[in-house]
Amino acid sequence: MTGPTDLPTLPGNRHAGLLEEARKLQDRTVELRRAVHRYPEQGLQLPRTQAAIRAALADLPIELTDGRATTSLTGVLRGARPGPAVLLRGDMDALPLDEDTGLDFASEVEGSMHACGHDTHVAMLASAARLLSARVDELAGSVVFMFQPGEEGFHGARHMIHEGVLDVAGTRVTRAFGLHTIANSPSGVLQLRGGPMMASADTFSVEVIGRGGHGSAPHDAIDPVPAAAAMVGALQTMVTRRIDVFDPAVISVTRIAAGTTTNIIPETAVLEGTIRTLSESTRAFVREELPKVCEAVGAAHGCRVLAGVDPGYPPTVNDPAVAAEVLALGAAILGTENVEEATTPIMGAEDFSYVLQRVPGAFAFIGARPPEFDPAETPDNHSNRVVFHEPAMAAGVALYAGFALDALRDA
Ligand SMILES: [Zn+2]
Ligand SMILES: [Zn+2]
Repeated sequence: MTGPTDLPTLPGNRHAGLLEEARKLQDRTVELRRAVHRYPEQGLQLPRTQAAIRAALADLPIELTDGRATTSLTGVLRGARPGPAVLLRGDMDALPLDEDTGLDFASEVEGSMHACGHDTHVAMLASAARLLSARVDELAGSVVFMFQPGEEGFHGARHMIHEGVLDVAGTRVTRAFGLHTIANSPSGVLQLRGGPMMASADTFSVEVIGRGGHGSAPHDAIDPVPAAAAMVGALQTMVTRRIDVFDPAVISVTRIAAGTTTNIIPETAVLEGTIRTLSESTRAFVREELPKVCEAVGAAHGCRVLAGVDPGYPPTVNDPAVAAEVLALGAAILGTENVEEATTPIMGAEDFSYVLQRVPGAFAFIGARPPEFDPAETPDNHSNRVVFHEPAMAAGVALYAGFALDALRDA
């Protein structure tokens, strides 16, 4: 990461008080965050989380709509004057693990933990809704609040798009913004970049079918094990020889399974793994070529091969102009010392990508490492010991609100 360069300047000092206003809401933000943290829910059905958000927004002039297929929650705040619609998104779901933080508001649900900080996203977005409700006179247009379940592999954003979240204000949203807290980045520091921000995440599975036999007589069998081993190497060669290094892919074979004991040649071997790319073109190339490489290698060993790619999330690609605006917004709200333009994407994935495929927008990280923690020892998102520094949430509240205020200011 490096500091931002050539940031566009904002007119006036429009956002001077925003962080202070967000801090005034901190007690509410923390209260909702901890309530959600205590009862984490996973996947697409999160009724308790949905109810907690509804209750937190009940006194605000926001039209709330429950999802149909899922427990998503959509809010619409109508500005004092007509104008376009802007979307702010916070995901709501937890992960399947036992919490081991020792926090006094730790998860009370066995096998479930808010280890990715989505509880902080819920709380930040709810407080941004409150902040913006108090400033409704400054809004020319509508703010759509997208409380999304099922980010952790359940395509929750796609469900909400299918149910019309992008058009819920009566007009298609013209801008979208999402935030993610990062447990091992400096607290309150905003990070993003224009262009690819996060990778696609597809999975693959390959079954190599030979003919079983005695371990002492491989010539009488068709051994799928060396064929599978050759595929592991061939896939890495495919990455380095056939894919542009500046539009890269990661292919990781993460699981190999074959055989039962030392003197049996097994009939089949199975490979599984993940594919990460930063563009739809490289993604399509890998989806097309990976099965062919495996089939051809298998054929060279006399094996039959069943190979398939299962599509996951698309790459998360920030609109360059919107990303530049968010960097400038961050500098205005948080100070330039708390804004970093990311030099590279990260190869994790995120289903806000479905929104950014359809609407120009940006997805950004906000650091939340407790200042007293040693970065070398700090647990990352998804760890059973991860801890998020709650004061960082005020920065997120202000950024969400500032994004909407900028997008809906009078011409
Ligand atoms: Zn996660
Ligand atoms: Zn997450």
